[in-house]
Amino acid sequence: MLRVDSLEVRYGRLTALHGISFEVGSGECVGLIGANGAGKTTTLSAIAGVLTPAAGTIELEGAIVNREAPEAIVRRGVALVPEGRRIFTTLSVEENLRIGASIRGDDEIAADVERMMERFPVLRRYAGTHAGKLSGGEQQQLAIARALMSRPRLLLLDEPSLGLAPLMVDLVFDLVAQLREEGITILLVEQNGRRTVELADRTYVLASGSIVLTATGPEDLGEVERAYFGGDAAVEA
Ligand code: ATP
Repeated sequence: MLRVDSLEVRYGRLTALHGISFEVGSGECVGLIGANGAGKTTTLSAIAGVLTPAAGTIELEGAIVNREAPEAIVRRGVALVPEGRRIFTTLSVEENLRIGASIRGDDEIAADVERMMERFPVLRRYAGTHAGKLSGGEQQQLAIARALMSRPRLLLLDEPSLGLAPLMVDLVFDLVAQLREEGITILLVEQNGRRTVELADRTYVLASGSIVLTATGPEDLGEVERAYFGGDAAVEA
């Protein structure tokens, strides 16, 4: 589904990604974890077409998409749930959902809004309410539902559990597991390394713009922890 090869991204003179390579197979849930500033959001932004790589390739289902605009990437079946949700706070919950379907021209949008409200009862309860009135956990559900409205085959999730209460964190990780069961391919960016390694088929650890470790299951958690600390030390140095 996705192959990232020797991806380098710069912000002016700062190189945020130093030629990273990884893959996400169709139907997989793959984790990308690392400390603040490791380059996780930068990686997702490059895949989503928001940032243009300085070098390397991003391949989606065999097509190199390095220079494609964000809308073109969405049309290829990729949806990004950004860090901090970024829902439209002054629009209603239902309007937010409809915006998620803005690239679609079919006549099943209303039915999909209904499906989202069935799946996330809180969205039905607040359908006509300004989305800004929702709690963090409710806004995260809306942000994921909005992304699902484009009917993505690849979902990019940027720290969906950030700042949520423990029960909401459970709900988010359960939801990611369900979406994978439903056949959606997922790239999950997280700081919650343990939960991600436990859930994902494979987890890459990013430190200072490089992938330093690939974990395949809970047995790798000790090594992941050491890679995290190594990464932090490298950032500070
Ligand atoms: P966080 O968990 O804090 O979101 P992250 O792993 O997602 O961290 P990035 O946001 O991708 O990390 O940042 C990677 C590096 O690029 C950091 O050194 C950061 O300061 C820098 N950076 C990110 N965005 C910009 C920008 N718009 N302009 C300049 N530097 C940036």
